[in-house]
Formats: sequence, C-alpha cells, structure tokens
Amino acid sequence: MITANVNPDEIARFDSLAARWWDPDGESRPLHDLNPVRAAYIAARVDLRGAKVADVGCGGGLLSEALARAGAKVTGIDLGDKVIDVAKLHLHESSLGVDYRVQSSAELAATEPESFDAVCCMELIEHVPDPAALVSDLAAMLKPGGRLFMSTLNRTPAAFGAAIVGAEYVMRMLPRGTHHYAQFLKPSELGRLLRHAGLELEDVSGLGYNPLSRKAWLSRITAVNYLLSASKPA
Ligand code: SAH
Repeated sequence: MITANVNPDEIARFDSLAARWWDPDGESRPLHDLNPVRAAYIAARVDLRGAKVADVGCGGGLLSEALARAGAKVTGIDLGDKVIDVAKLHLHESSLGVDYRVQSSAELAATEPESFDAVCCMELIEHVPDPAALVSDLAAMLKPGGRLFMSTLNRTPAAFGAAIVGAEYVMRMLPRGTHHYAQFLKPSELGRLLRHAGLELEDVSGLGYNPLSRKAWLSRITAVNYLLSASKPA
C-alpha cells in the first residue's frame, strides 16, 4: 500500500457492517435509499455505456453495481477487505461484472493515471485523515475531459443534527461513531480542494432525504448531504 491516508478504525467499523451491506433495512439503509438519486445524477452527466469508471471507497458495491448495470466498466476499490469480499460475492446475485480490489486511492492513481472517464467517491472523504491527498488522487485517475462525482456531509448544525444526533442517536439507523463532525467539509472547502487539484467545479446539489418515508431527492438545500460534479480540463 502506497498511502497512509487511512484511519484503521474507520475501516474496521465499515468491515464490521459488511455482512449486512446489501440488506436494505440494515445499517447501509441510507445508502440504499440515496443510491438511485446519485446514480441518476451521474448518468445525467456522463454517457455510462462503455465508460471506464472508478468507484473509490466502494464499500459493498451499491453504486458500483448501479453504474455497471447502466453499462459502465467499473473498477471498485476500498481498503476494507470484508466489504470487498461482500461486493464480490454480490456479483453472483446480480450477474454483473465489476473489477473489485482492496486498493488505496493513491495506488490506483499511481498505477492507472488518467485512465477513467468518470471517478466517483461517495461518502468517503469525511472518513480520511487527509482529504486534500484523496482529492489529488481522484484528479490524477481522471482522463483529461473526465468527470469527478463526490458526495459528503456539510459541516453545519443541520448536518450535525441529521447525520449524528438523528441517525446515530435518535433513530439508531447508523452505529454511534460513524461520523465525526469536525471532518465534515463545506462545499466551499471541498471546492477549494478540487481547484487545487486542477479540477473545475460544475455543480453542487443538495441531497434531500427523509429517513421515515425513505425518499431521497436532489434539492437546492446543501446544508446536510450534497453531491457535486467537477471536470478535468481536456
Ligand atoms: N461509497 C460507498 C460506501 C460509503 S461508506 C457508498 O456510498 O455506497 C465508506 C467506505 O469508505 C467504507 O466502505 C470504508 O471501508 C471506506 N473507507 C474508509 N476509509 C477509507 C480510506 N482511507 N481509503 C479507502 N476506503 C476507505
């Protein structure tokens, strides 16, 4: 492994959830509910048929499979070996093909630079020690003209209330300790990291979510969860 941009406690926490990753009513429930919206957001901006796509921090493969189903050639990487095992196993159920690997973003960026039409990195950056290094790896993987898609939690009282107090303590939907408020990034801060990595921010959209009705939608309100698209100049 080339990088040390990883918190082993984070990997252990997600690995402990691996067996239930594809249970829509398990701890990954919010990811299941958000997945169609983020897959549609990506499909609206990239022609996925035949596209080479990297899914960085892919977990059990919810987004990787959605992209593969839309015709993309997907490489899914994560540093959790249990989540990658689950992702690989699930291909037997879905009959899709995804190239899953236990690999760091730094290693993929170094071995396959400028190789991907699109790079996706959902709900990962708030879990890494060095967000700037992650963004620079993601930028390095992209072909010139390629697009980067990210989603994360904003650092606002609303996000603290929804993602930590609401999801971890009140609804007990996520295990306590899943999120650390200080690591949440504001869109302006993430935008700065993207610019420093040579990318151009194209869109920031809010990701609305009602955990009771389990509905998710794109919104103008970015105060809690948001999705963004950035491009690498051709
Ligand atoms: N992107 C997926 C999973 C999000 S959960 C989705 O949105 O559906 C966060 C994932 O990031 C977990 O699978 C965890 O194992 C992984 N992860 C945490 N820290 C990481 C790091 N430093 N490098 C790579 N993956 C990491």
